[in-house]
Amino acid sequence: MTETMLAARLHDHNAPMRIESLPIPEPRATDVVVEVKACNVVPNLRNVLATYAEWFPYLPLPKLPAVFGLDASGVVTAVGSQVSDVAVGDRVYVNPGLSCGACRACRQGADQNCDSYTFMGYFAFGERGQRLFDAYPFGGLSEYLTAPQRNLVKLPDTVSFDEGARFGYLGTAYSALRKANTGPGSSVLIDGISGTLGLGACLNALALGATRIFGTGRNQELLDDVKAIAPERIFVTNDHEGGLGDWVRKHNNGDGVDAVIDCLGPGAPVASFTRALSALRRGGVAVDIGGMMERVEVDMFAMMCAQQSLLGSLWFSTAEAQEMAELAGAGVLDLSVLEHHRFPLEKINEALDSLPARHGGFTNFLSIP
Ligand SMILES: [Zn+2]
Repeated sequence: MTETMLAARLHDHNAPMRIESLPIPEPRATDVVVEVKACNVVPNLRNVLATYAEWFPYLPLPKLPAVFGLDASGVVTAVGSQVSDVAVGDRVYVNPGLSCGACRACRQGADQNCDSYTFMGYFAFGERGQRLFDAYPFGGLSEYLTAPQRNLVKLPDTVSFDEGARFGYLGTAYSALRKANTGPGSSVLIDGISGTLGLGACLNALALGATRIFGTGRNQELLDDVKAIAPERIFVTNDHEGGLGDWVRKHNNGDGVDAVIDCLGPGAPVASFTRALSALRRGGVAVDIGGMMERVEVDMFAMMCAQQSLLGSLWFSTAEAQEMAELAGAGVLDLSVLEHHRFPLEKINEALDSLPARHGGFTNFLSIP
């Protein structure tokens, strides 16, 4: 008799998910089955379910019914016949970024540049995504899911499942900082430092050795809480009218920053983004990982003269997430400031409808099967 599991499945975009009993999947040759211990209820999930079909037709959702859930951590319970290097009992984070594995980008190790790139349990970046949704039909709002062995990040014993389920937003920030060459003695401006993405950028910048981290935000109390993480290294401001570049230079020995990491949300004004660019030093790198939708006017000639770069960065590689996991395991990346709020999987609809007030990016909402 096939064993069954509970999963929250969406049948209709205008109706709640249904908690259903489904067969526990069997792994294909190079796949594993993971028993989910925590899945992030990411801040953007509600948007994705409610508006993506209309706002972003180029980011297709899986055909319904579908099991959503972006960021899952758990324990490997079964491995396929060709799986090596992963064993039953391993504690893992599942990188939901799926790629075809065979195209030129994939062979270069640049999975995010694959034309088929797809977030398991979330959305795809093109029409080719449905094939991967079909191959890996379970997001993290389920008791079990299947994943390719190459998408697994092993969690050190000192990293909890709750922390592991935050790796998506943390890893996105980590990859952006690496692309901007953030390292010992670097300076970084994080636009939107107190949100989920921005706080992840702050914690990772501390871990990577940045000595001056500047952050903008709206809520002064939240900004004060961010500053308290490392008062000698973190500088915050909610003054969006004044000269941000001047403020940064005043606290950075007269120099601009090496990197700007833009973590602003979808509704953020473009003026905030261009103000942040004014804080870059010559040769600095700005990386956008936020969801700002307004179009940016960029003075490319000035940026060229100053050798500045502007990058878009999507998600992260599994290798980058493993590096980050090691940093967290060794305590170099300190995740102890996160505040975990756990909901039973069966209550996912109630959780999505009425998430309690958030303590900015400190809050980590989780579904627990
Ligand atoms: Zn590919």
